[in-house]
Amino acid sequence: MNSFQPYAAMPFYPGPVSIHPRVARALSRDYAPPRMGTEYLELYKSVRSRLQKVLGTKEDVLLGTGEGMLVLWGALKSLLKEGDTVLSVGTGVFGDGFADMAKALGCRAVLVSEPYDCTISASTLERVKDAVREHRPVLMTAVHCETPSGTLNPLEELGALKEDMGVPFFVVDAVASAGGAPVHADAWHADCVLGGSQKCLSCPPDMSFMSVSAAAWERVREVNYTGYDAVKPFDNAVEDAMRFPYTPNWWGVAALDASLSALEEEGLENVFARHEAVARACREGAKALGLTLWPAEDAVPSPTVTALRVPEGHAWPEWRAALAERGLYVGGSLGPLAGKVFRMGHMGTQADREAMQSALAVMKDVLAR
Ligand SMILES: *Cc1c(COP(=O)(O)O)cnc(C)c1O
Repeated sequence: MNSFQPYAAMPFYPGPVSIHPRVARALSRDYAPPRMGTEYLELYKSVRSRLQKVLGTKEDVLLGTGEGMLVLWGALKSLLKEGDTVLSVGTGVFGDGFADMAKALGCRAVLVSEPYDCTISASTLERVKDAVREHRPVLMTAVHCETPSGTLNPLEELGALKEDMGVPFFVVDAVASAGGAPVHADAWHADCVLGGSQKCLSCPPDMSFMSVSAAAWERVREVNYTGYDAVKPFDNAVEDAMRFPYTPNWWGVAALDASLSALEEEGLENVFARHEAVARACREGAKALGLTLWPAEDAVPSPTVTALRVPEGHAWPEWRAALAERGLYVGGSLGPLAGKVFRMGHMGTQADREAMQSALAVMKDVLAR
């Protein structure tokens, strides 16, 4: 009874990651019949205040019952009106993707895009400044960890620029960094920082969360978007329990609570240091094997995921199969990087030093064949 079988193999897929044993225990409980009343709201509030620390905010945080993309769409639809100008700062698939999403919503999208092996630099900031002056965007978007590229964008200066130049709203995708790297929503002047359960928080892919600044709340009320992914139904819903939208997802919220309590016990600083150490071991170990990192020399590599070039003489499908045969599961990449780049997701439970050494040994073995 209740025996959780951790994955026997070496999972280094960049999401969904292997779930935390405590999350497995939380999921194996039966929460039915739904105890809607105060109990669920207490759990919700506890997760909310824990997530405020993870996201670096004193502002509101809400939980979405659906994976990361739910809050990406929900934030944009809830903050934007047709015809608004959106400035997307992209250094990869997700960063550029925000511009496509804005266009799909009938907005005018201005894209400041850098090559996919780069992170935001001084010259990017100059381009952003020019674009803000020329186009006066209502909203700016950026991605913290660009998962397909294995990079981590510094956002402090971009956030300062948003504030200094008076861009009304700033939305940050931190789906692949929240809980694995420091996120500073308030210090970055970010109105909405978006996260998901299946990356650094080692939960199943069924929950998401977002910070909502006071200014963003005002805008949400003004835009008044009301779809299933809307932010608006959560307005005061916790405080006014009778108005809480949708069926309480006990399992999803209890899983997040279990994961966040494990993070708190380890200490957030220690969690971040563990991710950094495993990422460094991955990069150094891979280089020692003759592999090449995908990010450029002057780009910031992510502590949660490492992107490497598929080694010469190996096609991606064969490389993946050879590793999988030996129990090592890595991810491919997306968009223009598909087939060229493979990724080791060392986030959450997978930020494990010993497992990383085993993974490197498997790669060494396959390369020596
Ligand atoms: C995984 C990911 C998403 C999407 O999250 P899902 O849980 O797959 O919906 C969005 N942005 C980034 C940067 C991601 O890594």
